[in-house]
Amino acid sequence: MNRDSQLKDGLTVTGLPAFTDNYLWLLHDHRGHAVAIDPGDAQVVEHGLRQRNLKLVGILVTHHHPDHIGGVAELAEHHHCPVLGPADPRIPMVQQRLVDGDCIQLEQIDMRLRAIHVPGHTLSHLAYVGHGAVFVGDTLFSAGCGRLFEGTPAQMLHSLDLLNALDPATLLFCAHEYTRDNARFALDWEPDNAALRARYRESCQAHQTGTATVPSRLSQERTYNPFLRCDQSTIRERLETSFQRELSTRLEVFTALRQRRNGYVAVHADA
Ligand SMILES: [Zn+2]
Repeated sequence: MNRDSQLKDGLTVTGLPAFTDNYLWLLHDHRGHAVAIDPGDAQVVEHGLRQRNLKLVGILVTHHHPDHIGGVAELAEHHHCPVLGPADPRIPMVQQRLVDGDCIQLEQIDMRLRAIHVPGHTLSHLAYVGHGAVFVGDTLFSAGCGRLFEGTPAQMLHSLDLLNALDPATLLFCAHEYTRDNARFALDWEPDNAALRARYRESCQAHQTGTATVPSRLSQERTYNPFLRCDQSTIRERLETSFQRELSTRLEVFTALRQRRNGYVAVHADA
């Protein structure tokens, strides 16, 4: 991939593919100072830094899963840079513990991010918002959302509502390339949604050419991401048919949709 996204205030985001379908993000300024977000693999980050002649000045972590923190200790030691993230004993390398609403500033890079507590995928999960971008870890994906490993559906729905309340122009940087499977799943519940069909086609083409489908804009996600569209009657009615019962609240719709996604295996026409 290695496609850059330009943010406000002269900042750039570079996505580094890692493992099977992860993206590790580098947020950097015009002086070549960079912050790594969820560096699951130290070697991938080192290579990305060298390639772009960047100096690592900080590490941000969204949650404790190994594919998000695997490279943190090695990078922090090598670059002598601070590690910021949730207060969670499962992330012992975090030196500066953050809570909801904290403003993040580092000495060597002109960057201001705000931490948002978004429990659901894990209980201590944080997202980072600023400069027209949001780094959501495994909370929200393009055309989908994260699995509920620790949180309740109510917690996750509230977290998604918080993210959905951001400026619609916000660029969404999620940590996995799941768009094609997510969009295929979503089509079962909203087959006539033209924006969703276009997103699915686009993600199939991207899969064939090996290009990234993220970041996307929040305004786009609102048109096709079913987990941000639990108030849509088509989605509710189809789930009611599937579950053979009435779903009277948005939370019930969200819970049912997430349940169907858990056991879902996508089959693509081009596979
Ligand atoms: Zn995770």
